[in-house]
Amino acid sequence: AKSDGGNGWRFFTPEHDRRISVVRSMESDLRGALSRGEFTLNYQPKFCLVTGRLTGAEALLRWTHPAKRPISPADFIPVAELSGLIVPIGEWVLATACEALTRLPADFRVAVNLSPVQFRRSDVAETVAAKLALSGIAPARLEVEITESLLLENNRATAGALEALKALGVTIALDDFGTGYSSLAYLCKFPFDTIKIDRSFVQTLETEPGSAAIVRAVVGLGRDFSLKVIAEGVETEAQKRMLLSFGCDEGQGYLLGRPMPLEALLQIATNADSR
Ligand code: C2E
Ligand code: CA
Ligand code: CA
Ligand code: CA
Repeated sequence: AKSDGGNGWRFFTPEHDRRISVVRSMESDLRGALSRGEFTLNYQPKFCLVTGRLTGAEALLRWTHPAKRPISPADFIPVAELSGLIVPIGEWVLATACEALTRLPADFRVAVNLSPVQFRRSDVAETVAAKLALSGIAPARLEVEITESLLLENNRATAGALEALKALGVTIALDDFGTGYSSLAYLCKFPFDTIKIDRSFVQTLETEPGSAAIVRAVVGLGRDFSLKVIAEGVETEAQKRMLLSFGCDEGQGYLLGRPMPLEALLQIATNADSR
């Protein structure tokens, strides 16, 4: 038997117990993170593939714990969702993104990711309405990104909340399209404005003929349903060229621009404005 030197018998703790304790300690750190001001938003630019024009940005949450290395949202969002903390954190994200919009050019749009838990555990349309009113920005400048997992729940409340968001004048994007149990019926059942093609298809565009076929088909769907189509995770010129040739409207990815602090976004947004 081995002690880990003071912290008990971690060496022999089964993996799931260890994971539970990691989640518990992250949850207690997350609990105070909002009031300690440990969250920031980064903004990843979106570009029109045809003109190269900067059209907007996606707000991406960052958590910097003072004693730890930056923690990926892919790791802490699930914990925030399990604990319900995603509700107050999500409100902070919405308020901060709306505030950022007041400093950006009038035609600039910002997208915010919404968790299914925000729909389940709060009146998310009411929250969005409050943040819009407080900031005074035009609702059409805000987009919300949701994933298919929300639609799977397939309940009346979800549809109602999406309709309420739509009625406010914000636009709705279906994120990570093609990765879940996509049902094409979702496209007519819910009031989407935008489809975001998942990075996994973009990244294999050049190597897997299936990916090119899927992307081309999704662009066609977008055209038929009058939806804007944006591709995420664009990393190479060849990917960008292929997306453009398929008729994809917009692109987002490391080739075009990395997530950046608001100050950096303000610089590229106002430069683009004065062209
Ligand atoms: P997502 O919504 O699919 O966001 C895109 C992710 O891909 C971001 O990771 C972004 O930094 C990354 N990315 C962008 N371009 C490229 C590229 O060219 N190549 C590669 N390899 N990656 C790229 P990030 O910021 O780590 O966010 C991960 C996920 O966390 C997001 O995936 C989203 O689901 C979630 N998330 C982030 N911020 C929020 C938030 O405020 N609220 C909620 N509920 N979820 C959030
Ligand atoms: Ca997203
Ligand atoms: Ca995405
Ligand atoms: Ca994705």
